[in-house]
Amino acid sequence: MAKRDYYEVLSVAKDAGGDDIKKSFRKLAMQFHPDRNHGDPEAAEKFKEASEAFEVLSDVEKRATYDRFGHAGLNGGGGGFGGGTVDLSDLFGDILGNFFGGGGGGGRRSAGGPQAGRDIQAVLDIDLREAITGVKRTISLQREDPCEVCSGTGAKPGTKPNPCRRCGGQGVVIQRQGIFQVQTPCSTCSGRGMINPDPCGTCRGAGRSTVRKSIDVEIPPGVDSGDRIKYSGQGDAGDPGAKRGDLEFVIRVKDHRFFQRDGQNLVCQWPITFSQAALGGPIEITTLTGDKVRYDLARGVQTHEILRVTGHGMPTRRNANKRGDLLIQVIIDTPQVISPEQETLFRALAEIERKEVGPPPKKSFFHKLKDWIVTDEKK
Ligand SMILES: [Zn+2]
Ligand SMILES: [Zn+2]
Repeated sequence: MAKRDYYEVLSVAKDAGGDDIKKSFRKLAMQFHPDRNHGDPEAAEKFKEASEAFEVLSDVEKRATYDRFGHAGLNGGGGGFGGGTVDLSDLFGDILGNFFGGGGGGGRRSAGGPQAGRDIQAVLDIDLREAITGVKRTISLQREDPCEVCSGTGAKPGTKPNPCRRCGGQGVVIQRQGIFQVQTPCSTCSGRGMINPDPCGTCRGAGRSTVRKSIDVEIPPGVDSGDRIKYSGQGDAGDPGAKRGDLEFVIRVKDHRFFQRDGQNLVCQWPITFSQAALGGPIEITTLTGDKVRYDLARGVQTHEILRVTGHGMPTRRNANKRGDLLIQVIIDTPQVISPEQETLFRALAEIERKEVGPPPKKSFFHKLKDWIVTDEKK
C-alpha cells in the first residue's frame, strides 16, 4: 500500500508550524487511540499512520529530509517504522490524564520544582551559494524572555516568593492509593515549589513574557542540510530560578538549478561547441560564486566526459580555505540554427567524413559501436 503524504495524514499545510502539527495530531490521537477503540483494526492503523506522520513532521531534521526526498528519504526507503516508535509519554502525559479522569492541571510537568525553559528549534533555508560563502542572517522569532519588571522572579518588585509549605518546596506530593504511592504535582503551588503571595502585575507571577526577538545568526561556509547551529541558553525562559532552553537552527540548503552538491564537490553540466570539442583550446567557466575560471580543453573531448576544476567545490566546515572540486560534465551543444556560411562548412566537413580520409588515430566510441554491430550480425 502506498504511503499517504504526511501533511495529508495530519490535514495540515506544507508550511504548518509545530503547534498546528501538534494540535492536529492530538485530535487524531484522541479519536483513534487504541484505548478508545478496542479491537478496531482500522482505528489502530489510523493511529499508527498519524503517529508516524507526527514523528517525522514534529522533528525539524526529519521534516526537512521528508520535504526534500519524500518517504524515500526516511530510513532508507520507508517502512522502517516499527509502529509506535513515537515517544508519546511527553505528548500523552496530559491526554492520558484526561482519559482516566485525572486532570491534575500539571500539564507536562514530570517532576517537581521550577521547570527549565523549552528549547526552540527553527529551520533556516539558505541557497547553495550561501552554503559556499557563509552568510549572516537576522532571524525574528517569538520566545519567552524573563519579565523585565520583576527580573524574572515573578514577584512584585520588593517582595519575594516563599517555599511552598505543603510540599516543602519540592513541587510534588506523595499520595497513598491502596498499596501504591503516587507522586503528583503539588496543587498548592502548581508544582513550582514556591508560593508567590505578591505576584508581579506585568507577568502575573510567571516571571516571563512572550517577546519578538531579532537574533543574528552566523552561518559558516561549508554547511549542509541537517547541520545545526546551537545557541545554548537562548531558548525560552523557564520558571523563576530555572535555566533557559536552547535555541537551535537546522540548516536546509535549497537545490540549485544548475549546480548540484556531491559531498565536497560541485557538479554541473557545461555546453561546448562541435569545434571546441574537436579542436580543444581554452574555455571560460563561470563558477557558482561568479568566478571566471579558464580551463584548457584537450582535443577530442567527448560529450558527457567529466572535467575537474580543482578547488572550486564546497569548502569544508572546519576549514573554509580547503575546498572540493568543481566537476564539469561536457555537453556538446548542437546548433539548432546555422548560418549559410556554417552550413557550407558543415557540408564540406560531411563530405570529408564520408570519404573517411585516413584511419582514426585510435578507435572512437563510434567505431567500436560499428565493430560491435558487425560482429554481432555475424553470430
Ligand atoms: Zn514580572
Ligand atoms: Zn507546593
